[in-house]
Amino acid sequence: MTPFDYTRASSEQDAVTRARDAGARYLGAGTNFVDLMREGVETADKLVDVTGLSRRIEPTEDGGLLIGAAASNTAVAEHAAIRSRYPALARAILSGASTQIRNMATVGGNILQRTRCTYFLDVEGARCNKRQPGQGCDALEGFNRGHGILGVSSACIATHPSDMCVALAAFDAVVHLVGENGRRRLPLVDLHRLPGDRPHLETVLQPGELITAVELPSQTGNIRSAYRKVRDRASYAFALVSVAALLEVAEGRIANLRIALGGVAPKPWRAREAEAALIGAVPEQSAFVAAADLALSEARTRSGNAFKPELARRTIVAVLSDLAGAGR
Ligand code: SF4
Repeated sequence: MTPFDYTRASSEQDAVTRARDAGARYLGAGTNFVDLMREGVETADKLVDVTGLSRRIEPTEDGGLLIGAAASNTAVAEHAAIRSRYPALARAILSGASTQIRNMATVGGNILQRTRCTYFLDVEGARCNKRQPGQGCDALEGFNRGHGILGVSSACIATHPSDMCVALAAFDAVVHLVGENGRRRLPLVDLHRLPGDRPHLETVLQPGELITAVELPSQTGNIRSAYRKVRDRASYAFALVSVAALLEVAEGRIANLRIALGGVAPKPWRAREAEAALIGAVPEQSAFVAAADLALSEARTRSGNAFKPELARRTIVAVLSDLAGAGR
């Protein structure tokens, strides 16, 4: 690891000021970023520690919740209001990493974690357009069992590894940001970019812009939520496919539905066409199958991940069937 300066921010504005220097990066718990620095994937001249900023989880005026970006993943998963009103979020967080990592990792860091593509991590031996633009992508013809099938490009097929973000996408979470140009809010699903021909650009964040909080809108009506993760091992493994879904049935018809997918795309992926197809439909298996087909209709597979579209279809149908059954 190359030498770097370390400084600790005392406030959000102080963090933005300290991060003005070229080569400065924000540091959360470092559970991903410091590993990447050790491997030589990431470099920084200066780390601005933001773990002392807001960890609060508090109600908003309109009945939602505001989660400070420095809150630990464990604190979010164990919070009573999240367990009762956003259970899919608690379930998603608890399905990721290990207890020790969740105790340290922050919400902001979870959102901005990098892909676990093995070629991205292999600085000495692999070509990677994300790590070094224009170099090529060894995953395209290599080991790509865990790689993406939606939103991918010929330059990069990496997936975003977060479980938490999939649930946040389903709950229509909004990210609060602060930077040199002031404060702004952004739907979480608009934060991450698709790779196109520039996979090294992963978010729409401006230089020096800091995630300060994540806002969960209020949950109205009789909405049920669930998160299901399919993976090679029962613990400490990234998703091959995951599904977060919210379902509300009124008078025998689907009144409200959101479906987000993980393990299949470079960002938390909302299946909006499938959602639109199901609004107003009777919640039954045939409708769920047709919607799942729609969600995967644009899937592009490689040699190692050709199983993913069918796995994703079946997981969507299973999650929606469970939610519909629970409402009867
Ligand atoms: Fe790099 Fe993306 Fe290719 Fe992986 S899939 S090697 S991250 S360019």
